[in-house]
Amino acid sequence: MRIALAELELHRVKASETFAPGALDFHGAEFRQTAPLSINVNAELLGNEIRIQGNLETRLEANCDRCLGPVEIPVSQKFDLFYRPMQTIAREEEVEIPGDEMEIGFYTGDGIELADVATEQVILSVPMKVVCSDVCRGLCPVCGANRNLTPCNCPPPQRDSPFASLKKE
Ligand SMILES: [Zn+2]
Ligand SMILES: [Zn+2]
Repeated sequence: MRIALAELELHRVKASETFAPGALDFHGAEFRQTAPLSINVNAELLGNEIRIQGNLETRLEANCDRCLGPVEIPVSQKFDLFYRPMQTIAREEEVEIPGDEMEIGFYTGDGIELADVATEQVILSVPMKVVCSDVCRGLCPVCGANRNLTPCNCPPPQRDSPFASLKKE
């Protein structure tokens, strides 16, 4: 669904859309969408900026950074976004923007695709480091075993072990 500039010039626009897993392109991100994504927005035109407020819900799955096991990431994201027309970037204008959670994007042409807003917000919602649990013990760097499942008896690599200095004495 496209939020059309022509329509925003007349009135505010309410829009919702649901994207099935696979419908959105996350640009090679290292997670998978495992449930339908629903997005609801209110859009309005403020001067030449499009403001989009709304929320989205979905579920993602990624791999644990330590043990590579699957990690479920429920996403429930609220957003308040401002989009400026692309051609005004060159002229830096002072624009007052309310709120502290604001972010600024740009739009080209005659509006904004809801799919683009959803894609961007999902990517932003994923933490930099994904771990299945704070106590995940990860894979053994020596034999490759998942140490959460099979404790192995490999000697810990000297550098990474907190006990390395103790053992030398
Ligand atoms: Zn893990
Ligand atoms: Zn091992």
